[in-house]
Amino acid sequence: MSGGHTENMTPRERFHAALDRRTVDRVPLFYQHLGAAKWLLRSTGLRMFDGFHDPEVFARLSLAAHELYGFDNVMAGWGDLLVEAQAHGTIWKFPERDFYPRAERYLPMDEVDRVQPVDPREDRFWSVPLAAAGIMMDRVGREVAVVGCLNAPAMVASEIVGMENLMMAYLTDPGPVLDLMKVLAESSRRYGERLAEMGVEDVFIENSTAGEEMISEEMYERYDRACLRTVMGSFRRNGMRTILHNCTARPYWRSQLETGPTALHLHLRSVDVPEVFAAVRGRACMVAGIDHMELMFGGTPGAVEDEVKATVERWGAGPGLMLGPGCEMPYRTPVENIGALRDGAARYGTRS
Ligand SMILES: [Zn+2]
Repeated sequence: MSGGHTENMTPRERFHAALDRRTVDRVPLFYQHLGAAKWLLRSTGLRMFDGFHDPEVFARLSLAAHELYGFDNVMAGWGDLLVEAQAHGTIWKFPERDFYPRAERYLPMDEVDRVQPVDPREDRFWSVPLAAAGIMMDRVGREVAVVGCLNAPAMVASEIVGMENLMMAYLTDPGPVLDLMKVLAESSRRYGERLAEMGVEDVFIENSTAGEEMISEEMYERYDRACLRTVMGSFRRNGMRTILHNCTARPYWRSQLETGPTALHLHLRSVDVPEVFAAVRGRACMVAGIDHMELMFGGTPGAVEDEVKATVERWGAGPGLMLGPGCEMPYRTPVENIGALRDGAARYGTRS
């Protein structure tokens, strides 16, 4: 499908057009979490620790990513994986002021049945990125896509009881963790409602528990994906687009595609790229994940640009392609390589 203007698109228009598989002026760039945080902290003089406690600091750091790196969205969620879990009983701690918190204490399995759904607006910490989304909508929302951020129920459950306990429960006694994940799905539904009230149109969903190295596909579908489907359905009913993320080494991407995401975001090094592109084309937007480790963190700008060129050529001229790192860019990703991703998208991804 084409239509709509493509001249002088704003980042927001470009981002949404790609997600909706419409014509774009150039392939947009997806920014995840607080990638390459070091340079944002340096340029703003702000601390990550303060961002977890104050929506204004959270918003200013997230907006700095757009100013410095020039991708087409900003994101109202960072890569800690813990913000929902702590709202449901995990105790977190901040060993470093300029890095993500860690779990200090998981919830004992015999307390899991007491967990209740949470309104993210009411939680001391989950409310922070939510309020930051509102601040970002006010400041740049007409120009730049503000993307919400959520961990899928199984991912949150793994941060509430611990990954090993979750996997063990799947095998021996899935009832309690399945009930927990249903509670989490209800909290997630409320999160989507709050985003929609603020006019946020897109949400990123982290589902990197969908990997063969962690779980059988049958078990993924029965527990993890079943709860994910509930959440995705509630987002769809709120009129929101979903960007489903999976950076596992052996992703169950076909199974994820069956949940009907607006976009699927995969680390290209982990998949057969022509096979994935053929399956996703016409069904969803492809957020093609350029290797954020060896290539963007450790490689040269020239190698990054070559990879962008190859990826764009493999996709072809059709709509529905977006480029981004395969996952959150490492803390000290060289700015030159981030620039190369952007330059590559301009050089090889310009469509009109
Ligand atoms: Zn990831």
